[in-house]
Formats: sequence, structure tokens, C-alpha cells
Amino acid sequence: MLSLVWFRRDLRVQDHPALSRAASEGPVLPVYIADPALLAGPDSSARHFAFLEESLRELREDLAAAGQPLILRAGDPVEVLARLKAKHRVTRIVTHPETGNRAARDRFTAVADWAREAGLEWLVLAEGQGVPLPVPMLEPVTEGTGVLPSARSLGLPEDPCPNRQRGGRSAGLAMLASYLATRGQGHAPGSATALSAERMGARLSPYMALGLISMAEIRATLAEARAERRGQPEWAGALRALASQLNARAGAHAAPLIQPEGTAATGPWAEGATGLPYVDAAIRALKATGWLDHRSRALLAAVGLHHLRLDPASVGLHLARLSTDYDPAIHWREIQRAAQGRIPDPVALGRKLDPDGSFLRRWLPELARIPDAHLHAPWLWPRARRLLAGRYPEPVLDPTQAAREARAIRARMAPVHEDDPLIEGPRIPRRRRPDGPQLSLDF
Ligand SMILES: Cc1cc2nc3c(=O)[nH]c(=O)nc-3n(C[C@H](O)[C@H](O)[C@H](O)COP(=O)(O)OP(=O)(O)OC[C@H]3O[C@@H](n4cnc5c(N)ncnc54)[C@H](O)[C@@H]3O)c2cc1C
Repeated sequence: MLSLVWFRRDLRVQDHPALSRAASEGPVLPVYIADPALLAGPDSSARHFAFLEESLRELREDLAAAGQPLILRAGDPVEVLARLKAKHRVTRIVTHPETGNRAARDRFTAVADWAREAGLEWLVLAEGQGVPLPVPMLEPVTEGTGVLPSARSLGLPEDPCPNRQRGGRSAGLAMLASYLATRGQGHAPGSATALSAERMGARLSPYMALGLISMAEIRATLAEARAERRGQPEWAGALRALASQLNARAGAHAAPLIQPEGTAATGPWAEGATGLPYVDAAIRALKATGWLDHRSRALLAAVGLHHLRLDPASVGLHLARLSTDYDPAIHWREIQRAAQGRIPDPVALGRKLDPDGSFLRRWLPELARIPDAHLHAPWLWPRARRLLAGRYPEPVLDPTQAAREARAIRARMAPVHEDDPLIEGPRIPRRRRPDGPQLSLDF
């Protein structure tokens, strides 16, 4: 029996139930298919592709070390798989459940239908939650390994991201190790600033989004760390937070995907030119690094959705493209939460997230001559207008007024979601008045 193992967002050989099962029952053809329709979709970007390329390179080496290198192909998956089936005597496809966007899930269903019609066994094996599986040994199969198409040939626009996290499982493992050995000490995610979260947070999200490390592997490592650090209160916050975020991830992946359609936002919010310093700094940080702490992401989404009344698809698509860790199941759920959650004051929340202004000074050099006391709301300082003229925009809106208007619109709608522990502040009262303008929450 020759099994074809189809890899997608599960790019590892360790703790991989589909690979282990296939390898235990005969030779394996491990395949990754770069589907141009998905890689160049509206939520994709060249930074995602660069991270993917780095990760596939390492997966190929890891598979080669196990006995059979990864086979890379580009094209429509049904066509690619049909060719491989015809050439080799493939009898079944063994794979991981699909966790991608709507288009990826549709594609997955189409492949499953084709496989059954073609008389192949179709086996989908989810991650286990127990002890991680070891690397299986693979019997070699003769097949050209192939190359990935380039970002340019896929039509992905240039997307410089100088401070992006590097792809590959080893970078993910190093991140986990440094979090549990040193970086997480004293981390308190609920009150972290943008800069402390960047330094002290787990930073595992891009590695988890592509399945470079499994949940069971992280849970097992975390359990060891918890046992070692018992009685060390300075570690309690970090260890508890990681455990609970892993549960949140599992919850997001188990929930139905809610992904609206539209086009990515452009304009001042998308470019980091709203004149609201924290909002602009956060977008610029995300552009340059591909990562942002949770509360800053939630603030960006809320300002786009509520203060600027952009539609959820445009806000979500822009943030998705900029986030190296784009994980549709988590991302669209968070966009929905931001649409239904508290309407924050971007200046007040910005001050909490960056109390000494270091984050703003890093990302907004235009504000170098603004004193600390006025950094988060320079328009309230009379001398700012002259100092910033031609360098930094006036705010595109009055944040207090815009929040008030957004709340008034919200008050005419039925709030849908009240249980988000990650979004601070008072909950919106439940009442409904159907008349008057409504913020579109169509998902
Ligand atoms: C608008 C918005 C969009 C987001 N989009 C994404 C996204 O595309 N991909 C993504 O991984 N996270 C997303 N998040 C959740 C969160 O902000 C990031 O996971 C987190 O900032 C990553 O940093 P970390 O790895 O240090 O996470 P930690 O907070 O240390 O958490 C560890 C891991 O748990 C998971 N996790 C963390 N927060 C959540 C959550 N709220 N729901 C489900 N799982 C979670 C991630 O895999 C993360 O790597 C989004 C949040 C918001 C508000």
C-alpha cells in the first residue's frame, strides 16, 4: 500500500498522526501542493509566502532525514494528486484536517470528493492531545522533489517586512525554549505593554499557524516547565497564560469559520496615517514585524470597525495580510469579537499599552520633538501643530466624538457577544431599537 500524505498547515514530522499512521503501514509519498489560487488569495501576502518557504525548506530536510524528502508541486490540488496517483500506485490519501480559510476548506472538500470518486481511501487524522508521537521512519519512493513557484510568479506584491519572525520549526522550538527558560519570567499578559508583550510573550503564533509545532508538543513541554517551576511565583503568569491561550486556540479551531468577503482596507487607517499616534504606531509595527500583541490588534480592529466604520472584511483582510501568523480560524473570530465587543478610547488604551511612549517613539520618529506628556494626543498641545506641520497628519477624527457616535449606533443594535475576557471594560447593555443607522456587522 502506498499512502500519499498531503501536507498543508501541519508542516512537521514530529507528532503528526497522518504521517505516523501512513508510515506504519507502508511507503509514503509526502506532498505539499502550492495552489496559486490560495497563495495569491485576498488574505495572502508575500510575507506569508516567505515564512512558508522557510518552513517548507526545513520540513523537506526533516522528511529527508526520516527517509523520504518532501515532494513539492504547484497547481490545482486535484490535478496534481491525480497525476501522482496515475504515476505511482497510490491507494490512499492520509491528511490533517483543514484549518485554513474558506477557499482552502472548499478545496479540501473538492479533493475529498475526487479521492473517493477515484477509488482512493481518504483518511483524515487530527492532532492527538496526549503524548506527542515520535518521528516515523519512511521507506523511500522515487519521485522528483520539485520546487516552489516564486512569490513574483504567483503575483504577490512586494511586501517588505524587515523584522519578521523567521520560518521553520527550529525557530519555533527556539522561541518556545527561550520563553520557558527566560523570556516569560514576570510576564503578565493581562497588563503587558506593547513592548513587554513583544519581548516577554510566547511569540509562537506563526509557528502554530503553519503547524510547525503541535499543540501536544507545546503542552508536554509546558507541563515539564510547570513541574520545574512549581513554587516560583514570577513564572506563574506566563505558564498559566500559555496554557489558557492554547485552550483558546483549540476553541477557535473547533468553532465554525466565519469569514466575510470583501477587499482589504486602504487609506489612513491601513497606512498608519490617522494622526492617532497609538493606532498609527501599531499598524506600522505590524507592517515592519508581522506581529503585534493581542490588545493592540484588538484596538486596531476596533478603531477600524467602530471609529472609522470600515467594514469587517476590509479590516480583517488588511490585518490578515500583515500578520505573519495569520490563522483564519483565530483571526476572523477575533475580528467578529472586535465588531461586537467594547468600543475603546484609542488614546486612553494607547497610554496603557505604552505608558512611557517608547513604542510610539520607536515607530513614529515624526513625533521626536513632542514631549512625553503630549505624545498620545499631540493635537491637544498648542505647539504641536507647528512642530508637526508637513510631517505628521492631524487626527482624521476626534476619538472621543467618534467613540460616542459608534456607541450611539451600537445602542440601536442588539449586542451579540458579551463574554470576551480579552476585551476590557464595561459591557454593552442588551437592548434593541431597530430604527436609525446601523453599523454593518454582516459576516
Ligand atoms: C484582531 C485580531 C486578530 C488576530 N489574528 C490572529 C491570527 O491571525 N493568528 C493568531 O495566531 N492569533 C491571532 N490573534 C490572537 C493573538 O493576538 C495572537 O495569537 C497573539 O498576539 C500571538 O502572540 P503570542 O504567540 O505571543 O501569543 P500568546 O498570547 O502567548 O498565546 C500562545 C498561542 O495561543 C494562541 N492564541 C493566543 N491568543 C489567542 C486567541 N485570542 N484565540 C485563539 N488562540 C490564541 C496562538 O496560537 C498563540 O501563539 C488575533 C487577535 C486579534 C485581536
